[in-house]
Amino acid sequence: MNVPFLSPARASEELRPELDRAWHETIASGRYVLGEQVRAFEDEFAAYCGVRHCVGVGNGLDALTLVLRAWDIGAGDEVIVPSNTYIATWIAVSATGAVPVPVEPDAGTFNIDPARVAAAITSRTRAILPVHLYGCPADMAPIMRMAQTRGLKVLEDAAQAHGARYRTHRAGALGHAAAFSFYPTKNLGALGDGGAVLTDDPVLAGRVASLRNYGSSRPPLNEEAGCNSRLDELQAALLRVKLRRLDEWNARRARLARLYLELLAGGPLQLPQVPVGAEHAWHLFVVRTAHRDRLQKSLASAGVDTLIHYPVPPHLQPAYRGLGHAAGTFAVSERMHREVLSLPLSPHHSEDQVRFVAATVRAALQEEA
Ligand SMILES: *Cc1c(COP(=O)(O)O)cnc(C)c1O
Repeated sequence: MNVPFLSPARASEELRPELDRAWHETIASGRYVLGEQVRAFEDEFAAYCGVRHCVGVGNGLDALTLVLRAWDIGAGDEVIVPSNTYIATWIAVSATGAVPVPVEPDAGTFNIDPARVAAAITSRTRAILPVHLYGCPADMAPIMRMAQTRGLKVLEDAAQAHGARYRTHRAGALGHAAAFSFYPTKNLGALGDGGAVLTDDPVLAGRVASLRNYGSSRPPLNEEAGCNSRLDELQAALLRVKLRRLDEWNARRARLARLYLELLAGGPLQLPQVPVGAEHAWHLFVVRTAHRDRLQKSLASAGVDTLIHYPVPPHLQPAYRGLGHAAGTFAVSERMHREVLSLPLSPHHSEDQVRFVAATVRAALQEEA
């Protein structure tokens, strides 16, 4: 049996008639940028997340960066980020001129450890940027309490967590603002690039809407020198089709994740944890083992594709050499990067494929022992 990591073409094929209709209607409309489709998607996604405002932008990185810019965060400021995340979280901060200040994760959930955030706050700290890594909501309650007492902003990086829930609220409704990516492989993916900013704050939403369109909210006046980061009408039309399936597709992910957890329980792998009161979006199913590289090879030779999210932590990337964080500085995160392995999981994998992967994992680890 061959198990691909993802099959994006199968996802599109399942929705083919609806996607084709949306595509053709948009072509016929003659309006290709910031029209009816973007407006409708913004309303629908805001309602889905339980937030007042949604502003569609070009990609997830821009969604993060534009919120920080709209909060006037820049040179001389610090923003607290997870030491264990995709590098985009850090790049959004450094793009404004501010400094990303890494905080180590909780070993169980992979997410930023609220207990360590307090120690990283200085007089220059302006915001905290938790990531709902792999689709698991970060522990937001203590982070929001800390932000409140210290007068800090909280921006959720929800790029991997469409539809996830923390207590009563969905990802996107947990901080002062949230950034989503619609990169094709995300739980809600476009057929190209896309992103969105979510917030209850009308002033922030207005400023981001202006920034994405050259800094102009009342053409022909440009209140500030913004950028061009608009969500395409075509992508918005396709995203509206896919948003209607998000809950069903996330439920399929959750079923397969439960099956993995059941089949791999009691073995030597460290399995992903779901915090009490949280609903995981299962963007990725990430296990941990000290024998990661050998396990990945055995799986590959059995026809099972796996990936590593992520092989190199941001503080050890050449791009951030200038920050001067030596190897060993963020040991919890560095160990995760050596030990994590993402097993195939998507709405388009079958239970048989998951059973095959789990059996192959168990056999490979038995040989290790
Ligand atoms: C995908 C992703 C982003 C960036 O999204 P793009 O649309 O690729 O710019 C940011 N943060 C995290 C955690 C992501 O997974």
